[in-house]
Amino acid sequence: MSKELEGKVAIITGGASGIGEATAELFAQQGAKVVIADINAEVGEALAAKLGENTRFKHTDTSSKADIENLVEFAVATFGGLDIMFNNAGISGAQYPRFLDDDMADFEKVIGVNLRGVMIGSQCAARYMAKNGGGVILNNASIAGIVPGQALMSYRVSKAAVIHFTKCSAIDFAEYGIRVCAMAPGHIRTPLTAFTIPGMSSEQMVRIREALAPVWDSNQPLKRHGRPVDVAQTALFICSEKAAQITGVVLPIDGGITAGDPVNH
Ligand code: NAD
Repeated sequence: MSKELEGKVAIITGGASGIGEATAELFAQQGAKVVIADINAEVGEALAAKLGENTRFKHTDTSSKADIENLVEFAVATFGGLDIMFNNAGISGAQYPRFLDDDMADFEKVIGVNLRGVMIGSQCAARYMAKNGGGVILNNASIAGIVPGQALMSYRVSKAAVIHFTKCSAIDFAEYGIRVCAMAPGHIRTPLTAFTIPGMSSEQMVRIREALAPVWDSNQPLKRHGRPVDVAQTALFICSEKAAQITGVVLPIDGGITAGDPVNH
């Protein structure tokens, strides 16, 4: 059977863990040459080594423009081009239950990675793709950017902005043959959802997460938590030729949470 991404070159930011890790593995299996870009060098290097000679690690902080410029240069120099940019790296920030307690330094940090990182990643990739036959840019948003809620204000705002940016850049980049889409995962079990609340001990947090997990699962119409591979499979479809006529869309991968029942929000 032919491979979906044979010969394509893909960058995956935040590729050392969770959704990025699952996507790196699937893209490599599907014939892509993959650059895993992450701040976690130890884990990223080990994953690249495990996935084989068509996968490399590049240390990158996506909130740094210089790092992302170097990353795109690295992909082109190493694998001869760039076809897919998956702007996946993201952080949840501190989990202040109420915005009244929120710390704006945390807001700057979250926006720096989740929004600014996606915008810089898109611009640097598109500058290359526009001159080299186009490509696909995929941004990882979240249902937190679709459904309003009380906590996680900086995270929600950053992801809502990523969704709007995705649609605007899809229109802007279309004439260069660059498709731009976003995914909006629901509750996916990864280290990101192992969040912390300031002032709370890790034992307390583990108890809260254990109590919340079945609630999150049962609130989904499909009644199961999402897996990183569920998101990776969607990323594969969007980045493949099968989605050649799709741009500017935001696809929820949420077991039906955003389908319309407000009780499940
Ligand atoms: P994760 O914590 O497992 O992985 C995130 C990766 O990003 C880590 O390897 C981390 O080192 C890396 N990273 C963090 N800051 C970085 C930076 N500045 N530069 C480069 N790399 C950086 O998390 P995940 O759940 O796989 O999240 C991936 C994306 O999916 C995020 O954008 C997240 O917001 C989004 N998302 C996750 C969920 C979920 O439930 N897990 C839901 C919706 C959206």
